Amino acid sequence: MRACRVCGETISTPAYDAPAPALTSIMTLLDMPTRVFVCDGCGHAQCDDVPDIRAFYDTVYRISLASDGHDQIFAVQTDGTILYRTDHQAAIALKLLELPPGARILDYGAAKADTLRKMLADRRDLAPHVFDVSNDYADAWESWVPKDAQAVYSIPPAWNGRFEAVMSHFVIEHVPDPVGFLRDIAVLLVPGGQLLLSLPDVDANPGDMAVADHLNHFSEASLRHALTAGGFRLKALDRTSFPGAFFAIAVREAQTEAPDPALAGEAAERAREICGFWEKAAAHLDAEGVRLAGQKVVIYGAGFYGSWIMSRVGRSVDVVAFLDRNPHLQGATHFGRPVITPEKIPVDVSAMFVGLNPLKARDAIAAQPWLHRPGLAHIWL
Ligand SMILES: [Zn+2]
Repeated sequence: MRACRVCGETISTPAYDAPAPALTSIMTLLDMPTRVFVCDGCGHAQCDDVPDIRAFYDTVYRISLASDGHDQIFAVQTDGTILYRTDHQAAIALKLLELPPGARILDYGAAKADTLRKMLADRRDLAPHVFDVSNDYADAWESWVPKDAQAVYSIPPAWNGRFEAVMSHFVIEHVPDPVGFLRDIAVLLVPGGQLLLSLPDVDANPGDMAVADHLNHFSEASLRHALTAGGFRLKALDRTSFPGAFFAIAVREAQTEAPDPALAGEAAERAREICGFWEKAAAHLDAEGVRLAGQKVVIYGAGFYGSWIMSRVGRSVDVVAFLDRNPHLQGATHFGRPVITPEKIPVDVSAMFVGLNPLKARDAIAAQPWLHRPGLAHIWL
């Protein structure tokens, strides 16, 4: 039995339940099962708490610290140019937020705050502030955020009611109490101040459902519910600028938006459908692992899907390499295997497991002729 993290309703049984190990968003394994609970009351889906969550984010969870140039790929364009996530986030934030001249803006759960730094390149008038629950990022802030505009572990009381805008990129999916998180942000804003939230859209990127440290898998219905309870009015919801993610603009405003039971019901049904997909994918991979036991194979994709495949089949088949188009991953190792460019797929492998978003995987593989040769089986999620 669980209480919904958004509306408090009791959820009796998990819709997805896979034994340990669980895979995190930073591709580490946790010794715990992955369980997803779906709420019919508000359309929210949620995972179990991560044990010792404070220590995990303080000392284990280091995003994009490997090198200054390291960043996650947002898209590979048809001419081969790679667009990085924080560049794209900065462009969307500037488009969606209406920032008056000199606006005070806080990046909440900032990590290196690359998005905010890139926004300043276009908007030098903005007054940047950063907050994170880890001390790891102070060096990254040093040269461009004034010392008194940096906060670590807790927010100074003087920041209450201080900001025209707060933005929080890909944080709310990690927090055990998302409504409390939103209330904490609301008090930092001036009345009518804006909040920009980015978060995974599990409907568009079903892999998110199996990420163990994403305690929340929001639907539009549960996001609306949480924002209302947190003291916000949802002003705009952009689901297209960043495929696989929601970008929401909300205004600090006490109001009551009645939840829509039909929207919540549809969201709960969709969440259960995605859980069913993962149950089936796990069974399919177990069977392929047995069928291909001992054979040399590659996994396409060193991101979450590829890592999840590795966690299922890595002990039965001989994974010789990961293929990935991200030049910052190529040359590195992942789970002890080299990451190489897809064009260099070894000639002696008999199968390629495709570890990409299932909604996009077939198009991505079809576009690469070197991945199509006799004797190479493609294994899809
Ligand atoms: Zn709920």
